[in-house]
Amino acid sequence: MERLEPILKQYWGYDSFRPLQREAMECVLSGHDSVVVLPTGGGKSLCYQVPALAMPGLAVVVSPLISLMKDQVDALRANGVNAAFLNSSLSPQERFEVECDVRNGSLTLLYAAPERLVTDGFLELLRQTPLAFIAVDEAHCISAWGHDFRPEYRELRKLREAFPEISIHGYTATATPHVREDIAEQLNLRDTSLLVGNFDRPNLSYRVQRRTDPLKQIAEIIDRHKGESGIVYCIRRSDVDDTCGALRAQGKKVTPYHAGMSDQDRKRSQEAFLRDDVDTVVATVAFGMGIDKSDVRYVIHAGMPKSLEHYQQETGRAGRDGLEAECTLLFSGADYRIWRNFLPDSDPEARRSGQQKLDDMINFCSGVTCRHRALVNYFGQPYDKDNCEACDLCLEEVDLVEDPGTITAKILSCVLRLKERFGADYTTSVLLGSQEARVFERKHNELTTYGILKEYTKKEIRDWLEQLVEQDFLEKTGEYSVLRVTNKGRLALHGEELPRLLQPAKRHVKETKAAHDSWEGVDRDLFETLRSLRRRLADEQKVPAYVVFGDAALRDMARKKPSNRDAFLHISGVGKKKCADYATVFLKAIAQHMQTNPGDTREVTEEEAEEIAARPAPRSRLGSRPIPKRFPQAAREDGEEYDAPEAKPVRVALRSAKDAAFALFAQGASLEDICRQTGRAAFTVGKYLEEYLEIEQRSSPEPWVAEAVFEKVLDAVQTAGTERLRTIYDSLQGEVSYDDIRLCLACLKNA
Ligand code: ADP
Repeated sequence: MERLEPILKQYWGYDSFRPLQREAMECVLSGHDSVVVLPTGGGKSLCYQVPALAMPGLAVVVSPLISLMKDQVDALRANGVNAAFLNSSLSPQERFEVECDVRNGSLTLLYAAPERLVTDGFLELLRQTPLAFIAVDEAHCISAWGHDFRPEYRELRKLREAFPEISIHGYTATATPHVREDIAEQLNLRDTSLLVGNFDRPNLSYRVQRRTDPLKQIAEIIDRHKGESGIVYCIRRSDVDDTCGALRAQGKKVTPYHAGMSDQDRKRSQEAFLRDDVDTVVATVAFGMGIDKSDVRYVIHAGMPKSLEHYQQETGRAGRDGLEAECTLLFSGADYRIWRNFLPDSDPEARRSGQQKLDDMINFCSGVTCRHRALVNYFGQPYDKDNCEACDLCLEEVDLVEDPGTITAKILSCVLRLKERFGADYTTSVLLGSQEARVFERKHNELTTYGILKEYTKKEIRDWLEQLVEQDFLEKTGEYSVLRVTNKGRLALHGEELPRLLQPAKRHVKETKAAHDSWEGVDRDLFETLRSLRRRLADEQKVPAYVVFGDAALRDMARKKPSNRDAFLHISGVGKKKCADYATVFLKAIAQHMQTNPGDTREVTEEEAEEIAARPAPRSRLGSRPIPKRFPQAAREDGEEYDAPEAKPVRVALRSAKDAAFALFAQGASLEDICRQTGRAAFTVGKYLEEYLEIEQRSSPEPWVAEAVFEKVLDAVQTAGTERLRTIYDSLQGEVSYDDIRLCLACLKNA
């Protein structure tokens, strides 16, 4: 056991194990059969790769896809591990060489597909060398209860008969108890240890939005992640082609992937994505299995998946490197109807289960429970945080209507008074009190519900109508999509059901805690430089970029800025082999960056931080907020005022950023300037400021929030209280941002 940690450091450059990795490795070392269930990105591969290096004999890994085997073996070799695969992609000569390596005992890990593994020839080959253990990756493929059943996995039973003394270990991300038990049974495991990890992925942020303008919604997310990798999932092939074409027309680097394309085109798309030649794959669910790319920073669902299992699996492809990643789901009631039409008629049990999964999915979309909690609970685990700080609901990006019952009652009554004979557009006109002739001609201006929602905009009302349809309070029927009140709608009219209504179009995406933490102290310019270098090296070696280094390693380099080999070895993700292969070229790039950016500092001392803070703040060209009067005007020696040069902002390292920000707060510098001077995000500087206000016991948020705004917030607090930000925000009708409200509340506390 004591050898595991040094191996992890030496080959992978990691300092510690992720949850359950150590326990899973113990099972392997002690020869005890196991089934290990960890979420995607939980680090399953290392659970068998590290022990393989600590044990004598060959570790055999069953893996379902050729592409997956190749990526794993490439990554292992890049770390200095002697691994190989045997599959149909090898030439006879290559196969012969691998077989020789198996016989002469020089290999540590051998990957093979299940169908090959159980052939007589292959079993015979394995008998010619001592085996360490057998690992079955994606083990749920053996279970007909799982969602990826592969009959050839069933043959793996033969392994136990052929090698009764050798331990067998199954690894999967599929959580249902039924599947886990089935894996143990089908593989004929003995006295199996079952290890089940936590299904929460705290580094993923989840957002669910109604699909109003999909292209714009998708483009907005891609634009937030310039140069980063992401996947857009569509339900239909035609949506893939349309979306891909439209994004390309906007100049975005995208590629399509679906089962209707030729094998060659699909392979090309996949490789372009893996090698970072394109940023985004637009795909159906056909894409993903076997994609091991660890730096996928966003997954967008342009349509609702048919189950939370699928959603979890597809979003699971984001952020496998543990860094922050964004998952956004765009949904509409139409998606629900599409999937419902696909439910099998012939098999009532399958139909019932499919319908249940679909209902759970739509409930997730329109639910008001923290998304992390909802997902984890769905998979049968408790969730203990009150606020995940990483979903649209906990980040308070979604504004809920305070009294949805009354608005719903007004809308449903209007539909009933219109005798359920009109569509959404006309109903909206009546609710709004429209002066249109068509309304007067039908005398609908005389209805009691005419103009009953006139204080709202047409867009708001129309939006709520759609939301009521999605939540099954209303339905659209017939060729003209005439609105009808459903049974659930009638219950709502009696106050027995309550919908959730969102205020439209007020959302703004906030930085999550995971994003904030993982970027702390990272010099983003240097990170970009290192990314380009990684890409060049990967192209030269014809391997995916992450095989050279993952994003996590690059960020750590751009944070610590190592200047020698020793320091380079301390970067997370740099093992001995990678240090030998890449230290020279990466250290050179870092040194060059430091030379051309003399303002950049490594570890800034407190004195330096003070000095930075003492510099005059440049006049803001970015923000709307003026530099406060109290701020000393920058002056040349001859007394002339000058605009601060447009030179690169000085960035400071983690330890001192807060100190520098505090010193700048003391001078009353504007938030935009402090962001620029410290290289920190607005979110971070806002947090620093809250802390500063508390430490300084300031009773007024000026100059960062105007006195008049503060007064407004104080007024609102009288009735709204201080418990919930959203209540204050709503009572101010969205006029004051959440950030400003937070600052005001901090001062109110001091007062
Ligand atoms: P899974 O197979 O469970 O989806 P992987 O084995 O592909 O997960 O691991 C996901 C990522 O996490 C990989 O980039 C891997 O190198 C990294 N990783 C695994 N274990 C650790 C660890 N102990 N410390 C840091 N990174 C790790």
